[in-house]
Amino acid sequence: MDGLLRRGKTILPALKNWFGWCQKQQQCCRFYCDLHARQKCVSQHFQSMNLREDSIASQQTSKPGELTCKSQRLMLLAGLIYPASPGCFHYMPYTVRALEKLIRVIDREMQAIGGQKVNMPALSSAELWRASGRWELMGSELLRLADRHNQEYCLGPTHEEAITDLIASQGHLSYKQLPLLLYQVTRKFRDEPKPRFGLLRGREFYMKDMYTFDTSKEAALQTYALVCNAYGNIFNNLGLRFVKVQAATGSIGGTMSHEFQLPADVGEDRLMMCTGCDFAANEETINPDEKHCPVCKGKLAEYKGIEVGHTFFLGTKYSSVFNATVRTAENKHIPAEMGCYGLGVTRILAASIEVLSTEDAIRWPSLIAPYQVCLIPPKRGSKEEKGAMLLEDLYDCIVEAAPWLKEEIVLDDRTQFTIGKRLKDASKLGYPYVIIGGKKVLDEPSLFEVCNQNTNETLFLTKEAIVNLLSKVQTR
Ligand SMILES: [Zn+2]
Repeated sequence: MDGLLRRGKTILPALKNWFGWCQKQQQCCRFYCDLHARQKCVSQHFQSMNLREDSIASQQTSKPGELTCKSQRLMLLAGLIYPASPGCFHYMPYTVRALEKLIRVIDREMQAIGGQKVNMPALSSAELWRASGRWELMGSELLRLADRHNQEYCLGPTHEEAITDLIASQGHLSYKQLPLLLYQVTRKFRDEPKPRFGLLRGREFYMKDMYTFDTSKEAALQTYALVCNAYGNIFNNLGLRFVKVQAATGSIGGTMSHEFQLPADVGEDRLMMCTGCDFAANEETINPDEKHCPVCKGKLAEYKGIEVGHTFFLGTKYSSVFNATVRTAENKHIPAEMGCYGLGVTRILAASIEVLSTEDAIRWPSLIAPYQVCLIPPKRGSKEEKGAMLLEDLYDCIVEAAPWLKEEIVLDDRTQFTIGKRLKDASKLGYPYVIIGGKKVLDEPSLFEVCNQNTNETLFLTKEAIVNLLSKVQTR
């Protein structure tokens, strides 16, 4: 303690000096403190693309005979993920930024319908799973383990048992509190026999799972519709085309279920969609001989899809087992009518890359791109080198007009590389906007090359035009 105090005496004045220095720096050269801050310079990013040659990176994108897909290949090539063990990946900083943005998009819609966020343990007691009968039913998909006292657990793939037990432990829910919508965004575990396609089918992944509680079947069905509608909003906000299909209830159970699917060739689900009306179903729910839509008798066409969301109307399947009851207006105690609703969060990340990207360049839903803008200054020693100053001025003007972009702009300061090489890297990573101080940067007025990666358009624009363009970019 004494030592700490003694050291404090010397540290405090040093800290004061440092703050003073920073403030001074900020006044005389805001750009230095701001854009050159380490986290905004591509040269400082912890990202394997900076460290590795393309040829080495491409060797690591797949092993011989491994099933791979576009999103997995592109994410590995760009250094967004790094394999840890089969079906498990390290998420690198760009990916974590995108993931956190995606979670914010989901949070907003879940909270708009009254969802309250909780966080339940990943370790789930075998006792709960035995009570529901799923300890046996789930078979080898469940990742099981025992502690030092030989108590058995699983790493939760889903939390119907845990949440229902939690609700039961709180006494009766009053009808006045309902509907109750609880959700979490946490890591889930599934012992996949064959993990594949990167983040599309892993053993460890992020899922948003919501559980709802109502007094009657009618009320629960209304809640069900509410959540489905919020799911639609999420995919619309992300600009992803989705289909909602009738689905089987599987090991979760219940009496009604829908999947939210992104149509894609790599998808592992087969969907039947009516050409005459909006009927759509997972093939597993349809009689294999059925060629016609049960609603309008129109023709059914087959598509492949990536399942990104799944909703279940559970009824009292879990609430009756765990004795999770609600008190009605008539003062009766009855088992809660439940629903459960999943969104594969890391799967949505990969699936959106899968459906939006080109063969060699990642494209993100704009809202969740890790960064919105990449600035590429001229190459060191080129005759446009002085143009770097103009990019700094451009940065200041953008941030002044659109302060929400402050954390969304990176500088590719690797000026030892040509503009072409850095543009190629930027394209791989999928910044929606890449702004280059190129050939026309020293013109009067200065013109910057602006590449809109999502529309594949390149324009030469003045500073004012760029500020005007970017101030319309939404980040939430
Ligand atoms: Zn039809």
